[in-house]
Amino acid sequence: MANPNPIFPENAIVLFILFCIIIGKLGPWTNALSLDIKNRLRNDSESIRTASNDYGNLIHEIPSSVLYPSKINDIIHLIKSSNARSIPFTIAARGRGHSVRGQAMTRGGVVVNMTSLSKNGSRIRVGKNSLGSYVDVGGEQLWIDVLHATTKHGLAPVSWTDYLYLSVGGTLSNAGISGQSFLHGPEISNVLELDVITGQGNFVTCSRKKNSELFFGVLGGLGQFGIITRARIVLDKAPTRAKWVRLIYSNFSDFSRDQEHLISSNAPNYVEGILITNENTTNDWRSFFSSSSNQSEIASLLKKKGLLYSIELVKYYDNQTASTIDKEFQLMLKELNFIPQFIFNSDVSLIDFLARVGNLDNNPNGQLETHPWLNLFIPKSRISDFNAGVLVNMLPKLNYTSGLYIFYPLNKNRWDDRMSAVTPDEDIFYALALLHTSLPKESNIFDKFNNQILRFCENAGIKVKQYLPYYKSKEEWIKHYGSKWDIFQKRKLQFDPKMILSPGQRIFNSVS
Ligand SMILES: Cc1cc2nc3c(=O)[nH]c(=O)nc-3n(C[C@H](O)[C@H](O)[C@H](O)COP(=O)(O)OP(=O)(O)OC[C@H]3O[C@@H](n4cnc5c(N)ncnc54)[C@H](O)[C@@H]3O)c2cc1C
Repeated sequence: MANPNPIFPENAIVLFILFCIIIGKLGPWTNALSLDIKNRLRNDSESIRTASNDYGNLIHEIPSSVLYPSKINDIIHLIKSSNARSIPFTIAARGRGHSVRGQAMTRGGVVVNMTSLSKNGSRIRVGKNSLGSYVDVGGEQLWIDVLHATTKHGLAPVSWTDYLYLSVGGTLSNAGISGQSFLHGPEISNVLELDVITGQGNFVTCSRKKNSELFFGVLGGLGQFGIITRARIVLDKAPTRAKWVRLIYSNFSDFSRDQEHLISSNAPNYVEGILITNENTTNDWRSFFSSSSNQSEIASLLKKKGLLYSIELVKYYDNQTASTIDKEFQLMLKELNFIPQFIFNSDVSLIDFLARVGNLDNNPNGQLETHPWLNLFIPKSRISDFNAGVLVNMLPKLNYTSGLYIFYPLNKNRWDDRMSAVTPDEDIFYALALLHTSLPKESNIFDKFNNQILRFCENAGIKVKQYLPYYKSKEEWIKHYGSKWDIFQKRKLQFDPKMILSPGQRIFNSVS
């Protein structure tokens, strides 16, 4: 693919700049870029290769260059220089590039490698005010580092993602969900304040009370309104240990009734579910808990039933509650209807629990795999229809299955509807993550499968919403946002009127 370079069309421009410097008359757009910034822009093959790929390994857009900022001002400067041009160039913040459909890419524009902001030392600071403890975190920071930094103070955020090698800015641009979200809401519900550089290059501090339009817009805003450079996140006293069980069900009604019962109480600290569709999908499950003899019993049950469901349940404790945790856990389990012989216990430190997925980023096969994921929120009122039509009828027939399928309910009242994130219009909805892994040449099989699911929902009138959404047309985005579209569009015009930021989401920028 051609590599258009609006900022540095290579040799000719270098000569031009030298010429301008010599005669002291810089042109209007070179004026906009200081020498300092130019030194931080790179277009070597490694920079371009990294910026044109992501975890999905499905979409590759080639930027003109990559900015490696050393300070916030570098980003402000870049955005302002784009605004100053008659034809602005697009800019995509790249946290960790763990999107799966090119959302942190730009064709021909500039990718901002957020990670380089932390090169001058960690930007994680624990603090306290009259309202309680918090941590100020650079938008480029990883949640794993937030975990380690805060637990040193005996404190921790209350809401997480399953995987912690994700950037704070990238997850807050989506929502950040996991098994704690039923109780504390997604990560975006636990943000007190943000520093944001808007699409006009203005540096703005915002919160629920101050510049609230920007605050609510940016949280779940898919990078459309500004680049998050700092987030202030709520901290609570960190428990030290996690008592963790996995339960197995063959009956969907029992499984969903128990999950919904659990998320209606404050008894557990974490509730998720996993779908077991074939031998491959039991691997991850098995590695944590069960022995090989359990495994063969589960495999024979799976053969009979075609699909099994598993609840993953955690209660935290510390020295003060260690003597009562077993009793409390038993009380919680007593109310559930899992298959009695399939209960698997574990007891680990809080850090081991939260960091349980480990670091997947050093996978030597990374370049050989694609991740054609589909993430959905499904309204509870239609969950039985969804189970029958998709989970029972379609999922076990997917012969190529290799991946993890996560499925659990969430409480809508823990989400703030003023934020940009979109959820179904019901008190309880389920999150389904179909985390497929495939060879590049087979990714189209999964794309087709994902589309079949979306079509099934459309035909059955099940009003699902995509999480980590991916659409190709503006009409689909308008439908996705529904009644929120007007405010979403208004905020775009207010904070990024030249449509510069995060073009890879394809909401306001079509990619030909
Ligand atoms: C292995 C794996 C596990 C995951 N597990 C979970 C999970 O449990 N729960 C969950 O909710 N999600 C999960 N995700 C999805 C993840 O939260 C999103 O893909 C998130 O965007 C990843 O963060 P990132 O830093 O890689 O973002 P990127 O992919 O770099 O960016 C995502 C979007 O945000 C924009 N952006 C990036 N940084 C900023 C910033 N500082 N300010 C404004 N915009 C910015 C980008 O331009 C882009 O549009 C998982 C993803 C992977 C690959």
